[in-house]
Amino acid sequence: MIMYSHTLEYAKVLDQHDELASYREEFYLPSGKIYMDGNSLGLLSQRAEKTLLELLDSWKVLGIDGWTEGAHPWFYLAEQLGERMAPLVGGKKTEVIATGSTTTNLHQLVATFYRPKGERTKILADELNFPSDIYALQSQIRLHGLDPEEHLIRVKSDDGLTLDETRIIKAMTDEVALIILPSVLYRSGQVLQMKALSKAANERGIIIGFDLSHSVGAIPHQLHEWGADFAFWCTYKHLNGGPGSVGGLFMNERHFGKEAGLAGWFGSDKSKQFDMEHTMTAASDAGAYQIGTPHVLNLAPLLGSLEMFEELGMEKIRAKSLELTQFMLNCIKAELSEYMFSIGNPVDSSRGGHLLLLHEEAARICQALKAEGVIPDFRAPDGIRLAPVALYNSFEDVWQTVQIIKKIMKEETYKDYPNERGIVA
Ligand SMILES: *Cc1c(COP(=O)(O)O)cnc(C)c1O
Repeated sequence: MIMYSHTLEYAKVLDQHDELASYREEFYLPSGKIYMDGNSLGLLSQRAEKTLLELLDSWKVLGIDGWTEGAHPWFYLAEQLGERMAPLVGGKKTEVIATGSTTTNLHQLVATFYRPKGERTKILADELNFPSDIYALQSQIRLHGLDPEEHLIRVKSDDGLTLDETRIIKAMTDEVALIILPSVLYRSGQVLQMKALSKAANERGIIIGFDLSHSVGAIPHQLHEWGADFAFWCTYKHLNGGPGSVGGLFMNERHFGKEAGLAGWFGSDKSKQFDMEHTMTAASDAGAYQIGTPHVLNLAPLLGSLEMFEELGMEKIRAKSLELTQFMLNCIKAELSEYMFSIGNPVDSSRGGHLLLLHEEAARICQALKAEGVIPDFRAPDGIRLAPVALYNSFEDVWQTVQIIKKIMKEETYKDYPNERGIVA
């Protein structure tokens, strides 16, 4: 088999033996297109659509009583979905809550944990982190009257693509109060060794939190066992919760009872919330870090979408994802060698759910791909992210995608487009 490992026949064999193949039928695949952008916005499934419509209906039929009645009483949704996301991140049921967005959860967690004192005044991050996370950290540092230039340390990358864990651990000095790192880097897809990083931070008495936006639903985690202090994520990428779906956060139970930096009434103990006291009785678990009224209609699709992750478990999803990206790497190597692409992601198992193909004409290649019906994801200045998603992409999709890239390069049709990005890229 290995000999033919980049052929259409081989793709078909892999699809026939794919235990997850039937899940593809559950999704609305854009017609006539090959969707390779599930790491930016996951697709709608019939189950997510169903639960969204059910909650819309509960509003229609029950009005205010929807908070406590119907199939999914809104008042408890954030906790229920937290419990259901807990296995995806390796947290206990009480350690996870569905709330906020990646960025607002980061603000909440930094506001809760960042207490610059004496020598320990700095936040340790990395120079490849997603801009929103960096903006949030800079603004939190300013709120303490400190200068982000001095108090935000960004660990350097040698190749501009990946990070070296030993270097990060070396940067965990006595000046560091808090560490924020990605689990999977949004460009190169590198999976950071969260276990080793958490251990090193724990040993030095530094609080460590991870941004799981690109890993939740793509790779398994054991946050509790690893000793991570907290984590936060979005649900519209690999979890297919829909545009702007509600995010999640993990709070290690050793911090239960710690006062939220940004308080609001939905962080209350639920039995006390409607006593309307001016002294807050906070929830005793991760629920304490909620702020205001949950965005019910943006939680609703998750009720259906998460079922698929529960049925399969992350091990199977990760195994297929690795096979898909390996097959894509084989095809790229066999078909595109003469076109000056390079692979930006780690090629071993420390790659996450997407690949990064680098080319100086990346922006126009992406436009040509879209015109040919392949939906990629451009990342400036020279990156093409391709995410074959275990739940809805086939091996044949992968084969087709690489064939279409080859055609664009061979016929040079990318030259019909300007080499610049669109507004949303
Ligand atoms: C997608 C993503 C975000 C987006 O943050 P939102 O608050 O959901 O807009 C932030 N950080 C990382 C690493 C991401 O991948």
